[in-house]
Formats: sequence, structure tokens, C-alpha cells
Amino acid sequence: MFLKMCESHWVLCRKAIQKRGLSHLVSKTQKEAVSRIKKDMRSETPTRDYDPMLHLVMFIYHKYIDNIDELDIENDDERHCPLCDIAKKVNKIASQLYLDIAADEIEEMCKKYNLQG
Ligand SMILES: [Zn+2]
Repeated sequence: MFLKMCESHWVLCRKAIQKRGLSHLVSKTQKEAVSRIKKDMRSETPTRDYDPMLHLVMFIYHKYIDNIDELDIENDDERHCPLCDIAKKVNKIASQLYLDIAADEIEEMCKKYNLQG
């Protein structure tokens, strides 16, 4: 199984970050994202290189993998968008809730380390 956020859920993730006033922390280019991930990984606590969009997507992947047995997803070689899978297996409300809870976690992290300003 491969996890890859679909286009429409990617857009919803961006909106969730935007809604929480964290867009200015999101990398503008892929090159910038890679360079910031490297710096971010070297630091024990979140710094200015903390990219909320990347952390949101990774957080959703991790949470999804944690719950994979509960959702009874069969092993296969196909790409899965975690949020589409939840919408299919449970419902759209659950999928949105999953995203909102993850985005709230990211917002809390940014508040805790004073990264929003
Ligand atoms: Zn999706």
C-alpha cells in the first residue's frame, strides 16, 4: 500500500492550514520544502523551519497507519489517499473530522512553540 494525498484532499489540507492562520509558514517551492525538512529534522523542537502543511500530511499518514487494522484495509499495491479511504470506509464527516483534528494538533504545536507570528 502506498499513501498519497489526492488533489482535492491536498486542497482541503491547505485550506485547514490557511483557516488556522499558518499559511505564511508553508514552503513556497519544493526545493524550499526539502531544505526546510532537513533543518527541521535536525532540531529536537519545532523551529522556523517547521512547515505546517508537510507536518499535517505526515500526521494524517501516521494516524491512518495506526488505525489501519480498525478500518480493515486490505493489503495491496495501490495508492491510497487516507482521507478518501476514511470517507469510503466510514463516511465523509469522519474524514473531515480526521483532517480537522490533525490540523488542530498542528495549530497547537505552532502555538506551543510560538511559530505563528
Ligand atoms: Zn482524498
